Amino acid sequence: MASYVKEIGGKLSNDPFFTEEIGGGGGGGDKMRRVWVPGPVIVGAGPSGLAAAVCLKQKGVPSIVLERSNCIASLWQLKTYDRLRLHLPKQFCELPFMSFPVEFPTYPSKNQFVSYLEVYAERFDIRPRFNETVAEAEYDHTLGFWRVRSKHGNPDEITTVTEYVSRWLIVATGENAEAVMPKLDGMDVFDGPIKHASLYKSGEEFGGKKVLVVGCGNSGMEVSLDLCEHRASPSLVVRDAVHVLPREMLGKSTFGLSIWLLKWLPVRLVDGFLLMVSRLILGDTAKFGLDRPIIGPLRLKNLSGKTPVLDVGTLAKIKTGHIKVRPSIKRLKRHAVEFVDGRIERYDSVIMATGYRSNVPSWLKEGEMFGKEDGLPRKPFGWKGKNGLYAAGFTNRGLLGSSMDAKRIAEDIERCWKADAKFCTPFTQSLPST
Ligand SMILES: Cc1cc2nc3c(=O)[nH]c(=O)nc-3n(C[C@H](O)[C@H](O)[C@H](O)COP(=O)(O)OP(=O)(O)OC[C@H]3O[C@@H](n4cnc5c(N)ncnc54)[C@H](O)[C@@H]3O)c2cc1C
Repeated sequence: MASYVKEIGGKLSNDPFFTEEIGGGGGGGDKMRRVWVPGPVIVGAGPSGLAAAVCLKQKGVPSIVLERSNCIASLWQLKTYDRLRLHLPKQFCELPFMSFPVEFPTYPSKNQFVSYLEVYAERFDIRPRFNETVAEAEYDHTLGFWRVRSKHGNPDEITTVTEYVSRWLIVATGENAEAVMPKLDGMDVFDGPIKHASLYKSGEEFGGKKVLVVGCGNSGMEVSLDLCEHRASPSLVVRDAVHVLPREMLGKSTFGLSIWLLKWLPVRLVDGFLLMVSRLILGDTAKFGLDRPIIGPLRLKNLSGKTPVLDVGTLAKIKTGHIKVRPSIKRLKRHAVEFVDGRIERYDSVIMATGYRSNVPSWLKEGEMFGKEDGLPRKPFGWKGKNGLYAAGFTNRGLLGSSMDAKRIAEDIERCWKADAKFCTPFTQSLPST
């Protein structure tokens, strides 16, 4: 085995991504090949994967980015509504080594954000391999490398299975990889469309319709507002207590102000301040059916990861009764919905703004770093695991977290990369001693 890997190391010095054809696989006539990657394999070409690739490149470390869809930032391009803007001011959302254009507004639109990412990938010449779905990744203890298997091609065609072999694996598949669609009693009998918010583009198709939006996070609140602006009649299901804060207070972004205050004050006092100013600006949200949790917004975010909703106009529509607030659903009927308070109302459509989850447990064969249940790092703010495993974009801190992870990961891998380069090729450095 050692001599084989040494031989590969020699080949890699001539061809940095040495590829071997290794015949058919999977029994269905699939083609199989193996690619030896001198640097890390990054799974996911969202903001986190791109930022990691750029930071590595700036340090002279090449990488391969594998992306299941046919574009970068597929969450933003394919699974978000048209009216979406960054929730946080642009200075908190920029990726390493490139600021947003000065002419962009404080809260760039989704299209502006996507164009920023496209320029980012182009400027640093990051070319992800598209339509590559990573189906399995496992650390080979004998070899000392990660084996990352991806499938290329659509399900009706013969697929190519590629095994990428690398010392480092960076998981950048996101906290929002798969839509969460809870089962509701009567879903099969309801006669109208039921769709997840990830498939909702605009309220245009719902004009004049009664629409029930399930879930009151940022997406549920904004979808309800959008429906309202397209002359639909939305109702919003609010099951749990929720912190709604104004997007801006005292002429500053609520997020920026919170970060600034936290430099001087303990989190409890900052929470108290945010709640006091929110009440002055928004009034008592409980009066409109939006009870606040007992724990303050920043402490709750730290403890449970639950992000406060930043209001962009939904609350005003709730106050005027254009958006109705409803409790949990008991069951769906053919043309109506029965709520837990006994009320039964007619609805034409249901939109499930019920969130997303990580898909890591479905493909990463590893038991320590990522939890089996939620697919998130077990340690809070965990970005580094064992055997060259890293996570980018899993710290529940949005795009700011993506940038921080990318920088840390690149620094960590650079140390190893430089140490290897001193003595030998990256491959021979970690050969098993047989
Ligand atoms: C509606 C909405 C609005 C948001 N607004 C903000 C905001 O304003 N500010 C902010 O900081 N954050 C915001 N977020 C959070 C946002 O998701 C992240 O900040 C950002 O997209 C995270 O980037 P990421 O690269 O970690 O994950 P993603 O953007 O989800 O990218 C992950 C990529 O991995 C790919 N992938 C997944 N599985 C595989 C696989 N098995 N094989 C290959 N590829 C795979 C996916 O196709 C995807 O392209 C928002 C999220 C949503 C849903």
